[in-house]
Amino acid sequence: MRPGEAVIELSRMGFKFEVADGKVRYRYEGPGEPDPGQAVPLLEVVKAHRDEVAFFLKCHCPRCGGVVFGTFEGKSRCLACYWESEKTGKQDLGRTELRKTA
Ligand SMILES: [Zn+2]
Repeated sequence: MRPGEAVIELSRMGFKFEVADGKVRYRYEGPGEPDPGQAVPLLEVVKAHRDEVAFFLKCHCPRCGGVVFGTFEGKSRCLACYWESEKTGKQDLGRTELRKTA
């Protein structure tokens, strides 16, 4: 499995990723508790390929898993999500969307 695929899978499960000072950080935001049987092997992939994951996160839309075209109001988003957030006027679509699909 490619590190990027692990990030996408973990995002679907409710993990949030970000890159701060060149380091990959992640946390679980739910709902509920992650399934260790699913999450642990994926997190191992992420930990083993931190550089590649950091690069991937630069061009990964955390909301839909698409390719990011820019940073809008401090959040990386692909244009599709940016346009949608303009339509609905919500500020933090990423978090709500992840919860919904998790
Ligand atoms: Zn998107």
